[in-house]
Amino acid sequence: MKAMVLHAPNTPFVLEERPDPFAGQGEIVAKVLACGTGLTIHHAVRGRTDATFPRVFGHEILGEIVEIGASVAGFSVGDRVTTHAYITCGYCKWCKADREPLCDNLAGFLGRHVDGGYAEYVKLPARTFIKVPEALDYKKYPAEIAVICDAIVTPYKVLKRGRITPLDTVAVIGAGGGVGIHMVMLAKWAHARVIAVDKSMDKLAACREAGANMTIDASREDIAVALKEATGGGVDVVVDFVSSKATLEAGAQALGKGGRLVTLGGNASVPFEVSAANLLVKEIDVLGSKSFTAGEISESLELCARGEVWPLVTETWKLEEANTVHERLEAETITGRAAIVM
Ligand SMILES: [Zn+2]
Repeated sequence: MKAMVLHAPNTPFVLEERPDPFAGQGEIVAKVLACGTGLTIHHAVRGRTDATFPRVFGHEILGEIVEIGASVAGFSVGDRVTTHAYITCGYCKWCKADREPLCDNLAGFLGRHVDGGYAEYVKLPARTFIKVPEALDYKKYPAEIAVICDAIVTPYKVLKRGRITPLDTVAVIGAGGGVGIHMVMLAKWAHARVIAVDKSMDKLAACREAGANMTIDASREDIAVALKEATGGGVDVVVDFVSSKATLEAGAQALGKGGRLVTLGGNASVPFEVSAANLLVKEIDVLGSKSFTAGEISESLELCARGEVWPLVTETWKLEEANTVHERLEAETITGRAAIVM
């Protein structure tokens, strides 16, 4: 099979011919139809987060099952499937408690520690695959359906984690990014009032189109001051996709009573400061939202199948063009999502 292989961080992908995978016990092989690209893998491609090499990247996969190994039930050859990015054990207390991103025996992240979707075929443990509803037209929208398992489910999980309700005002920092713009979309779908924060006029315009009630240009305005001015008493929920020290501190300062600050980690592991007095007096929650469950992916696929929400894919590329799409991710010039379509 053809695969785009990365041999070391910060080097170009190399197009290689590799042996076709075969399904061992408990495994499934799927033909890749499309694979989303985004910052989660891009940070690893550029060496800012960990991965093992050589590696076939890509975790947002739409595929069609071509081979099923022994001891696998519930799937058939020809099923359309998508993937969960975490290779979990399925039996530890966190997996059993339906919080599988916290799995005690995590075998790694698809496309960073295990070969992923920048190839013609992908082989994974059966539990990593999730069936795609028949109602989703995978032939017409392969790129859109491929990215649901990240771009839609990540903000869908944040709605729950941040306890976002219809009367809340939600500020999204980094709102113009690939997942950020879907956060705007999902918060709007949940009937919240949405304030999009980003640094480019084009991205802020796209956020307004995605449903943002208001935008703040962080290249011109102080985020905390602007958010407090816009809301009077402060924001109910800040969802921070940038998660730098500066944005997290601004987000915490902008919260009103009962406020929730949700970080998605971003690219920074730098500590940030919040005032304990502020946490106490306003009863503020500081939360991390890590990935999502397979059940939440199924729910997100169903939401799209029902036409409640729909992912925004603005560009598609061929497998051989993986280097170009990662150059564009590095330059932050992609609004919405990009995907590789086979
Ligand atoms: Zn587990």
